[in-house]
Amino acid sequence: MNYTEIMVRYGELSTKGKNRRSFIMQLAENVKRTLADFPDVKIHAERDRMHLLLNGADGKHIIPRLQKVFGIQNFSPSIRVEKDIEVLKTSVQTLMKEIYTGTETFKITAKRSDHSFVQDSNELNLTLGNAVFDIFPDIRVQMKKPDINLRVEIRMDGAYLSYETIQGAGGLPVGTSGKGMLMLSGGIDSPVAGYYAMKRGVEIEAVHFASPPYTSEQALQKAKDLTEKLVPYVGSIQFIEVPFTEVQEEIKNRVPQGYWMTLTRRMMLRLTDAIREQRHGLVILNGESLGQVASQTLQSMVAINEVTTTPIIRPVATMDKLEIIEVAQEIDTFELAIQPFEDCCTIFAPPQPKTRPKLEKVHLYEERLDIDGMISRAMAGLKIEQITAKQAIDEAFADLL
Ligand code: ATP
Ligand code: MG
Repeated sequence: MNYTEIMVRYGELSTKGKNRRSFIMQLAENVKRTLADFPDVKIHAERDRMHLLLNGADGKHIIPRLQKVFGIQNFSPSIRVEKDIEVLKTSVQTLMKEIYTGTETFKITAKRSDHSFVQDSNELNLTLGNAVFDIFPDIRVQMKKPDINLRVEIRMDGAYLSYETIQGAGGLPVGTSGKGMLMLSGGIDSPVAGYYAMKRGVEIEAVHFASPPYTSEQALQKAKDLTEKLVPYVGSIQFIEVPFTEVQEEIKNRVPQGYWMTLTRRMMLRLTDAIREQRHGLVILNGESLGQVASQTLQSMVAINEVTTTPIIRPVATMDKLEIIEVAQEIDTFELAIQPFEDCCTIFAPPQPKTRPKLEKVHLYEERLDIDGMISRAMAGLKIEQITAKQAIDEAFADLL
């Protein structure tokens, strides 16, 4: 039997008091975006649930998409049938023939919101349970945690059968927490940071620093491909390429190597902040993880962070590398991230970066640089590209379909 509808249950939404309405609207918007290539699907967002009327669209293709939409706790595909006892009995039988393999326990859970219907829920449980016994006399009923819980809902517009509850991605609908700029390298950590930010409702734009000809076309493409892996959670992401060659050459030529890293990171942060301001973002996000490398000691963070008062969210700061890798594998960014294309940081990495940079020295060395000039030149050379749903979704789900 083909699904006619998917019933979506909200996650944390329900605790959000008067923001609830805007959360639901944002979720509906995000669902609509991820299903943009299914124009027949109609979305009805109600206070407690959302109903997706499939109108002939194939539920199989829609389910994996919904599993990536943050703000959904779980959902149940369902089949609408006529509100008629005989039709219900045969439908329940047909459905059970499809799913029962001979060993599962079951129960019927009937509910009616149409109180004028001829049978109440208890009567329906009995009638439909007996219809199942008619075809499978040996099937066992189990009230607590049955293998198959066949839900029957009598609503005003029809009767709905469902037997699955599919886990959603949880979190909050992307866009309900405002926008942040994600510093996205080609590494393992920053895409995971982006994933976690989106999970808490933050809309992200990806900022990537490229230093051609020192960094390759492949390194840039890798950053875009990683961004594309994050697209199914949102529908589309703006990818902002920042020309960084001049900055790196200047630092390398004018500053002692122990301070290259600190000064480079400060420039990245200044530029990201300028982009954030221009594009009305609220915060900056990055993939820094405490103690991983020289730039990620607390002393380094203090020295780098000094250039801005904009909040910087570091979703993976306290995670172990192995924990981060696990998530990277789940969201399928790991394999891409470990491809060996050098990014701007590895190429200009000094042999011995300072793990405890001194602010006086940082300030002293920065006086040798035309910081404002470099910022305005880099800002003038930004390349912005929208990475969209269609191509990314097709790729992400290619093996599922
Ligand atoms: P990642 O795995 O995300 O590359 P990492 O462990 O390699 O992180 P670093 O290279 O020190 O760590 O970078 C720390 C953070 O700085 C990155 O997570 C990212 O947010 C930001 N960053 C580094 N390089 C770039 C870049 N070329 N473009 C944009 N952001 C960058
Ligand atoms: Mg890196």
